[in-house]
Amino acid sequence: MTDEFTTTVYTDSDAESAQLANKTVAVLGYGSQGHAHAQNLDDSGVDVVVGLRPSSRSREHAKDDGLRVATPADAAAEADIVVMLVPDTVQPSVYETVAPELDPGDTLQFAHGFNVHYGQIEPPEDVNVTMVAPKGPGHLVRRTYERGEGTPGLFAVYQDATGEASAQALAYAQAIGCTRAGVIETTFREETETDLFGEQAVLCGGVTDLVKAGYETLVDAGYSPEMAYFECLNELKLIVDLLYEGGHMEMWNSVSDTAEYGGLTRGEDVVDREAMEAILDGVQSGEFAREWISENQANRPAYKQYRHAEQNHEIEEVGDRLRELFAWGEESKEPAPADD
Ligand code: NAD
Ligand code: MG
Repeated sequence: MTDEFTTTVYTDSDAESAQLANKTVAVLGYGSQGHAHAQNLDDSGVDVVVGLRPSSRSREHAKDDGLRVATPADAAAEADIVVMLVPDTVQPSVYETVAPELDPGDTLQFAHGFNVHYGQIEPPEDVNVTMVAPKGPGHLVRRTYERGEGTPGLFAVYQDATGEASAQALAYAQAIGCTRAGVIETTFREETETDLFGEQAVLCGGVTDLVKAGYETLVDAGYSPEMAYFECLNELKLIVDLLYEGGHMEMWNSVSDTAEYGGLTRGEDVVDREAMEAILDGVQSGEFAREWISENQANRPAYKQYRHAEQNHEIEEVGDRLRELFAWGEESKEPAPADD
């Protein structure tokens, strides 16, 4: 295995900060990623302008954080690097307004490949098209940077018009702190397809359905909702922390032999590999993307229904009640974004 493991991990010494000297970066959007990129770039001495609509409530936040703010089109007009950090579903319409401002040799940069990979944004041939994607939510990108650390990240080059697209993406990754932790290279296709597969089959979809199915199986068999909640949801955190820290063996070594034997012999029965392959097929063929794009065009009727059902699942009410009763609820909550 080790001789096949040839991935290069790029760190600070691989990045040339000179790539961003005399360049202006327009960060479009000031949400999770946008606020972190813009402030980290600014602290790294890069000239930043935040692009937001005149009606955006984020404008005040960006100004309070000491940043220049302009409309997306004006920000793009003065920038050499335009970074799309508005929600993926909004990017095509924001792109329409900034496209006329992309000069030959400029860079259009993303933090996720969806719109380029599925043809929702088709940049002109004379601009660089790159991706720099921290592997973590924005508040961690900001917080780790302030501590002198960084969040690991990915970079990719879809189109290299200047011959310097990679070097520039690495310099950007350095300026937001990612090369302090390590950055690996990927492609728009690989990042998009693995990201969608992961969130559907494993991380967001797979895990929540596993928890709900376990909970319902116990409750339907007459066990108490509280016990089912602790067993199937609350304890998941302990297991995930062990996996994250030291891999599967760290987890197996930390649980009882009984848990280990039971888990090793029974776990695979609950996973449907064919269903997983079908999910991957839907991602690769573009079927999922087409469904999600038309769902958005129709104002999200199915999305709203699924969300409603999820909100009204019994496990939510039981969880609210238990978190209220026990001490772990408040302290482990994400801090609300600072207003000052
Ligand atoms: P977000 O939803 O947190 O923030 C979006 C921001 O865009 C808003 O705060 C607002 O300032 C602006 N905005 C919203 N609607 C707009 C509109 N109609 N016109 C103009 N501006 C508008 O978004 P995010 O989660 O930071 O995602 C940005 C990009 O980063 C996406 O491509 C996403 O896939 C990618 N990404 C996100 C994460 C993450 O953890 N959140 C991680 C890696 C990559
Ligand atoms: Mg994702």
